[in-house]
Amino acid sequence: MRVATAMTNVHYVLHAPQGDTYADLLFTMIERLPRRPPVTYSTFQARDLGGDTAQLFKEAVANAFDRFQPQAVLVGSSCTAELIQDDPGGLARALNLPVPVIPLELPAYQRKENWGASETFYQLVRNLVKPADKDLSAAPHKPSCNILGPTALGFRHRDDVREISQLLQALGIEVKVIAPLNASVEDIRKLAQADFNVVLYPEIANTTAQWLERQFNQPYTRTIPIGVSATREFIREVTSLSELPIPVGLEDDMHSVWYSRSVDSTYLTGKRVFLFGDATHVVAAARFASEEMGFEVVGLGTYSREFAREVREAAKKYQVEPLITDDYLAVEEQIKHLHPELILGTQMERHIAKRLNIPCAVISAPVHIQDFPARYAPQMGFEGANVLFDTWVHPLMMGLEEHLLGMFREDFEFHDGAAPSHLGSSRVAETPVTALREVAQTELPKPITAQPASSAWSIEAEKELGKIPFFVRGKARRNTERYALEQGLSTITVETLYDAKAHFSR
Ligand code: SF4
Repeated sequence: MRVATAMTNVHYVLHAPQGDTYADLLFTMIERLPRRPPVTYSTFQARDLGGDTAQLFKEAVANAFDRFQPQAVLVGSSCTAELIQDDPGGLARALNLPVPVIPLELPAYQRKENWGASETFYQLVRNLVKPADKDLSAAPHKPSCNILGPTALGFRHRDDVREISQLLQALGIEVKVIAPLNASVEDIRKLAQADFNVVLYPEIANTTAQWLERQFNQPYTRTIPIGVSATREFIREVTSLSELPIPVGLEDDMHSVWYSRSVDSTYLTGKRVFLFGDATHVVAAARFASEEMGFEVVGLGTYSREFAREVREAAKKYQVEPLITDDYLAVEEQIKHLHPELILGTQMERHIAKRLNIPCAVISAPVHIQDFPARYAPQMGFEGANVLFDTWVHPLMMGLEEHLLGMFREDFEFHDGAAPSHLGSSRVAETPVTALREVAQTELPKPITAQPASSAWSIEAEKELGKIPFFVRGKARRNTERYALEQGLSTITVETLYDAKAHFSR
């Protein structure tokens, strides 16, 4: 259904009992699609089981074809219908429809959703693709590619496709076909005409890309452009496939590198993160988390058993135990055990995070309505890296920003003793700036609150206090002194400082 719903002129006839039509809701409600999925259900009922359900299915196919006039018909059974063993493919073919009929063998009770989508896409391509016409002209042609893998109900697929198409166009590569998202039967037929394939979602498109490579000698990309360094690697990969130079200024809209550097390292560096989702997103997100955000990957896993090897490889890199399971209770146990400070997961891990009160951002399908924002929010490419930075950092507590410290540390207006700016001070304005700068650097006024007589700051503690951003240093000093007083401590040590911090942040 994810493949059929993504496309424009196919129709899927599903042999299914009454009640299975709820599946329409997933698309119209979660993805807010403005149309119903192109699916007709045979909707047999209990009383039909004694009669001729095969005839019922044939009528459903014939009616759907008359009504929707698709260019190709997909037929299959839901898990319940499989038990009655009608043969949808044979039955539909017996109708001699004037368009291709593609039977799907998807044992729903044994196989998982991504496998089903991958198999459906593969069957469509196998049945429809025609060999490319040989271009015999000597004229050089613009390098071209297809983008494979985006579907309906995919996590941010719509925006990833836009981002990566723009990137490819900026590199001088023509995007011939995007499939299955928004593709027509005619588009699928043209797949073999491109020079190579860009596989954005291997869970959906790997099988098809491998077949296209075998049949038509079309290479395909391996890098998933999530994060800045992976996007750069992706650019190197596609430009080498198409023998093009990399244009200057391609990274102008990229902010995430500078942004992540500019955040106070106390609040990001070394944050312990746990990742779970489809293998592709988990492996790519772990790389971004570790290399570009400065997080510590403390655990990662996937429900995609087909890609367990890739996830195990990644786990080795971060020296953590991989979790390959589709049991969400096992995932919850692992999260409890690891105590991460941030979870990057699917909608299911978002539920778990809420229960355990841990910040969370979604990085992979299965998705929820809120993963289809109205605004442009890709995960891939340079803009995707910007979006990742925002969505991962915001659930964490924000601290003071390092770049402010760098820019204003020496500024005469900003020091612990400065009066609040909104109160103004004509005397300050009259004083020569250079003189004030010297004052600010050499003898900063003492904080407004007097030091309690009973607690003295040790040299180390005073030094540690100096590391606290100057915006809040005064408050930290006062809180620590208050705490020391309450605890009856005569000396404030580094330990007292941190005890006070823990005490007041409770
Ligand atoms: S279980 Fe979670 S993802 Fe599924 S429908 Fe409910 S809220 Fe949405």
